[in-house]
Amino acid sequence: MSEFSLSLNEEQQQIQKWVHDFAESVVRPAAAEWDEKEEFPWPIVEEAAKIGLYSFDFFAQASLGDPTGLTLPVALEELFWGDAGIGLAIFGSGLAAAAIAGTGTPEQVMEWVPQCFGTADKIQLGAFCVSEPDAGSDVSSLKTRAVYDEAKDEWVLNGTKAWITNGGIADVHVVVASVDPELKGRGQASFIIPPGTKGLSQGQKYKKHGIRASHTAEVVLEDVRVPGRLLLGGKERLDEKLARARERQRTGAPQPAMATFEATRPAVGAMAVGIARAAYEYALAYAKERVAFGKPIIMNQAIAFTLADMAMEIDAARLLVWRAAWLARNGGYKNAEGSMSKLKAGRVAVWVTERAIQILGGYGYTREYPVERMHRDAKIYDIFEGTEQIQQLVISRAISGLRIE
Ligand SMILES: Cc1cc2nc3c(=O)[nH]c(=O)nc-3n(C[C@H](O)[C@H](O)[C@H](O)COP(=O)(O)OP(=O)(O)OC[C@H]3O[C@@H](n4cnc5c(N)ncnc54)[C@H](O)[C@@H]3O)c2cc1C
Repeated sequence: MSEFSLSLNEEQQQIQKWVHDFAESVVRPAAAEWDEKEEFPWPIVEEAAKIGLYSFDFFAQASLGDPTGLTLPVALEELFWGDAGIGLAIFGSGLAAAAIAGTGTPEQVMEWVPQCFGTADKIQLGAFCVSEPDAGSDVSSLKTRAVYDEAKDEWVLNGTKAWITNGGIADVHVVVASVDPELKGRGQASFIIPPGTKGLSQGQKYKKHGIRASHTAEVVLEDVRVPGRLLLGGKERLDEKLARARERQRTGAPQPAMATFEATRPAVGAMAVGIARAAYEYALAYAKERVAFGKPIIMNQAIAFTLADMAMEIDAARLLVWRAAWLARNGGYKNAEGSMSKLKAGRVAVWVTERAIQILGGYGYTREYPVERMHRDAKIYDIFEGTEQIQQLVISRAISGLRIE
């Protein structure tokens, strides 16, 4: 167990500066262009791979190898301070990697997590496919089916996944599917779909409000066959889990608490903090420069107090993110602190970016200035990886011990 400390160690400070420099010199200058194009920013991801920021090694160092839990949120805040769309293009593979690292056997982790990134010479992407057209928040209702073909020791997957970051352009897709629909959420398993597997294709690519450099698309699975060894965690563990779930169903015993994405939530919160900080810094500098009624607009309390609140809210969000990130590594959450951090950070990012537009006035509303893009980017943090309401549900269940609906 590591001590919780607000002072970053030397290595973390170096990483913070390294990511910041990349965000400032490479990501930021490219942000408006890729937002406008609404395409995956391959040249920027290539730059990130060249310096090792987009790599298995950095993912391992910043997440798996950090006992304090703070390295990843620190790095993500800096990257998303540069730009959220490009940030997600660079970090999207991390969600698939985290899913494999979280549920895979040691052999699966060794073989497949590096493949979510590839190498600087041959970049690969990962995608984590849970959501479906009729099952977003309600992940227990997934319709994608995985059926075991015992004779061939293969799983056969059919279904459609919606809203998938890197969907269809990824090399490694991690797909969550139902293996026993009667058991709903307890009857699901995750599968690795390797590059070039027959039957997996990209459906529609979505045109989005924000984070437009990040690729989001449907993933269609038609009789996709994967060998038995690509079931995450292995067949024995799945059979035991299913047997336990059937026993509970038979005896009417309550199911354990809803499995959630709690572990990755502080990381997602850190991205939102990065966007909020970028908008706040821009608005603060602008308010000192812009003159109205003969003085800089910051000399009006209405503007200065708004900036004071923005600074305070960003710090509050970051503190919740750091607490959750540390807890996730050191003993686990007690009161859904992961959800708290993501809920707060998402709300702060939306509010701060909206206030930043207000402070810039008419200019803030145009694409000549970055704060309107930051506001569009921020909104997704109220929606993906669990909506605002789902975070509230998780928190209210944790604090009450009741099955709040
Ligand atoms: C840009 C983008 C990228 C994404 N990337 C991925 C990805 O990589 N992988 C992936 O699997 N998914 C991804 N998603 C999907 C995302 O996680 C879902 O959109 C999200 O979980 C919400 O699901 P939904 O859109 O079906 O909304 P719904 O579940 O239909 O919710 C609609 C509204 O109802 C509310 N609501 C639903 N249930 C309740 C309840 N019980 N109590 C109170 N309110 C409720 C919600 O909070 C929301 O406001 C992505 C989505 C977007 C937009």
